[in-house]
Amino acid sequence: MAIKNIIDADILIIGSGIGALSVAGKLCREGRQITVVTKGLEKSCNSSLAQGGISVALSKEDDYHIHFKDTMAAGCYQNDEEAVMTLVSKAPEIIREFIDTGMKFDTDENGELQFGREAAHSLNRVIHAGGDKTGLLVVEQLLRNINENVTIMRNEMALDLCVKDGQCNGVITRDENGNLKRYKANFTILATGGIGQLYPSTSNDTTITGDGMAMAYRAGCVLKNLEFIQFHPTMLTIDGNAYGLVSEAVRGDGGILINEKGEKIMEGVHPMKDLAPRDVVAREVYAHYLKGEKIYLDISAIHDFRDRFPTVTEICESHGVDLSKNLIPVGPGAHFHMGGVQATPQGVTNIEGLFAVGEVACTGVHGANRLASNSLLEGIVFGKLLAEHISAIDRKAPDFEYEMPVYTVDKLPAKSEIQRKMMDFVGIVRHRSQMHEIMEWFRQYMPQGCDSFCALDLTKTDNAKQEVYNMLTAGWLIADAAMKRHDSIGAHYVVE
Ligand SMILES: Cc1cc2nc3c(=O)[nH]c(=O)nc-3n(C[C@H](O)[C@H](O)[C@H](O)COP(=O)(O)OP(=O)(O)OC[C@H]3O[C@@H](n4cnc5c(N)ncnc54)[C@H](O)[C@@H]3O)c2cc1C
Repeated sequence: MAIKNIIDADILIIGSGIGALSVAGKLCREGRQITVVTKGLEKSCNSSLAQGGISVALSKEDDYHIHFKDTMAAGCYQNDEEAVMTLVSKAPEIIREFIDTGMKFDTDENGELQFGREAAHSLNRVIHAGGDKTGLLVVEQLLRNINENVTIMRNEMALDLCVKDGQCNGVITRDENGNLKRYKANFTILATGGIGQLYPSTSNDTTITGDGMAMAYRAGCVLKNLEFIQFHPTMLTIDGNAYGLVSEAVRGDGGILINEKGEKIMEGVHPMKDLAPRDVVAREVYAHYLKGEKIYLDISAIHDFRDRFPTVTEICESHGVDLSKNLIPVGPGAHFHMGGVQATPQGVTNIEGLFAVGEVACTGVHGANRLASNSLLEGIVFGKLLAEHISAIDRKAPDFEYEMPVYTVDKLPAKSEIQRKMMDFVGIVRHRSQMHEIMEWFRQYMPQGCDSFCALDLTKTDNAKQEVYNMLTAGWLIADAAMKRHDSIGAHYVVE
């Protein structure tokens, strides 16, 4: 069946987070016509939620070689060295350029940038804005940086990429009224973020359901490092439910993890104690949680907490946490995906005309575990490199039609069931002897006649069903990757 609603676009970007907007901001000023398709409103993304900040070697004591070393160490040396060097060495100049567009990061009384500390950084390196409102203020600045050459299509979900003979010429979407649309584009950019909503407890926006990864898989993209999922140790957690992130910067400023008896739980676990790499801290908090213990972040050492952390204050108070007691109840939640669509720092994938930027991409910079505050940086720096790459090439996409697949699904699980399975089998701790069970569980939801999660007849689904199908696809791919990596490393922790 041919889709009647056909729209021509030069550059089509899927998603509206920091990766997407960084690309759009540069190209629109060169007069390029850009269409951004986004699932919710433009600020519905993880980028807007980021609290801690952006790591960049801009302080007098710092040097990008130290940033390089910290990034490699946090990533357990599984990182792509060249990509890491590109990121950290280009960062100071690109962040200065971003500041020149009007972005206001927090400064001291002399007007000098303030640098915060986060886990596994060997010195203070994280610049922030509005205290812990960094992500939102960055997204608002990036939105101010785009012009009339950018058209944003809100509440529209990308469903499948149009790929034939290794070439991409656009995407199929469905808008909020249920209309299928076919965009034809010379350049199609995946900027759909990560996979946080695959887990029951997550810091991620509700739109982040692994769609980009699932679409890329169906289109034949090479995917990489999918087993590496970072869990954040400190989500505000009440009665087992997570209600938002308590930034690592709180521990950077002196917050300490304690149990109900007031004992410091990171004491003796790692030399960097509360500022140990995230996987180490998350596993420790999770181990206490499994024993039925409550864990708190003791913030009594932080004097100006409300001013420094207005977002965390708001999240806590709106959920009845009395901050005068200096104790925030916390637990771990899915936070960041180190793996994704294999791409170069310029966003180039194995499919011609299809690019990936931001969290959906796996450029190798994060290795097995991301260094805190390196991902907003990745979106800005590699977003700029991708925009420069597109500027430098002349591509006219081949003209072919999208052939609607024939496959359908008749049963789908509830989202909560997928989330529970993911946490039990491919969560913070993975049991080698049990992981195959989740693969069997996924198998029952594959379309009849297909031995994988193949592309569906889109006229027979709606956006809600497609989202669940994408979660199944992404979960199955992650579980498969986790089964194939036998040893524990970084965020992939396996026991018998
Ligand atoms: C609470 C929180 C705090 C964080 N704090 C920090 C921090 O301090 N520093 C740091 O460096 N990193 C931080 N991170 C991580 C960082 O925010 C993300 O890695 C980064 O913002 C990802 O940017 P992105 O552009 O790739 O994706 P996102 O910002 O997540 O944007 C993805 C976009 O794609 C859209 N989308 C998804 N699927 C579809 C579809 N099918 N069709 C159309 N649109 C779609 C989404 O709606 C969204 O607009 C934090 C993350 C969270 C959740």
